[in-house]
Amino acid sequence: MTDKPDIISMSKSELTAYLTENYGLPRFRADQIFKWLCKGAGFDNMTNLSKELRKKLSEELFCSLPKIEKKLVSKIDGTVKYLFKLYDGNYIESVVMHYSHGNTICISSEVGCNMGCRFCASTIGGMTRKLLPGEMLGQVAVANFDGADISNIVMMGIGEPLDNYDNVIQFLKLVTSDEGLNIGARHISLSTCGLADKILELAKEEFGITLSISLHACDDETRSAIMPINNKWNIGALLSACREYFITTGRRISFEYTLIAGKNDSPLQANKLADLFYKYFSENGRLLPIHVNLIPVNEVAERDFETSSVEAVKKFAEALEKRRINATVRRKLGPDINASCGQLRRSAEKEKSLITNK
Ligand code: SAH
Repeated sequence: MTDKPDIISMSKSELTAYLTENYGLPRFRADQIFKWLCKGAGFDNMTNLSKELRKKLSEELFCSLPKIEKKLVSKIDGTVKYLFKLYDGNYIESVVMHYSHGNTICISSEVGCNMGCRFCASTIGGMTRKLLPGEMLGQVAVANFDGADISNIVMMGIGEPLDNYDNVIQFLKLVTSDEGLNIGARHISLSTCGLADKILELAKEEFGITLSISLHACDDETRSAIMPINNKWNIGALLSACREYFITTGRRISFEYTLIAGKNDSPLQANKLADLFYKYFSENGRLLPIHVNLIPVNEVAERDFETSSVEAVKKFAEALEKRRINATVRRKLGPDINASCGQLRRSAEKEKSLITNK
């Protein structure tokens, strides 16, 4: 561990002050270094700095820029999955997806996760630590350095972003800054399992990022059985916070609903879900702008949930449509590289412990 501040977690003015005060560097050098970091370049690649200076800085400064440990590219749709190694040897994953509206990166916010959702691979070993702002920024920057040309960010990888609130806020400030990566808040979405208090705090920050809620159930009994967070913030508390988020920011709320065979995928449950949306999101009889993403659950080796049949997914979507709820079934990207779950990190961790236990 290091007690030095992380230079890639700093804004341009913070970095300039730090480098001029502590290392006597002129302002233009600090500008050069800031630009390189935003581009995802490590010290080795900072080619307009002398070799001696690069060596000195890489020995003396702390920079949490992640390194690409492994890169998988889908032969089917070009989706790219990165396994990143962090400065302390931990691993995280990011996925780059190509859409007609631009390239989107799905980033991690923590090493592991403490939320305990029963169907999720990322939470199996609990949470090791929270990511630094620079480690979230670094995933975007390093992917760009590798040619990804990112225009959209979803915080939907490993971890619960609202459980790492302060670092996520600093990351959002850095990534939206016009001195930095300059990615607009409208191109960023944050997915949460439902920390209602933090949703209300986030609303007050007025970033205007899109909020995506992992709902996955239409009643408290079912939700608590698959998502422990529901025991703290139940569906009523969560949806009231979402309504407040919409009122404050004017941003449409998006809901994730993972379909698990026999658990939450019946047309009756679709109707109950629609009832919930009308209860919490209607104004003068009209529904506020919401969107539901239906995701057939990804079967995870360590979990025994079965994915819903194509027929069940279709019926669920139709039941929502009949109630005039905007819903789409999520297209599965990168199926040949297992793009959507935290299993690459788990196998890298397993390999690491096999090596260290030898
Ligand atoms: N902690 C945040 C973000 C990370 S999880 C959250 O809960 O939203 C990203 C999304 O993947 C969430 O909607 C989560 O519920 C979903 N997810 C996790 N495991 C899954 C699985 N096995 N199949 C389908 N979706 C899954």
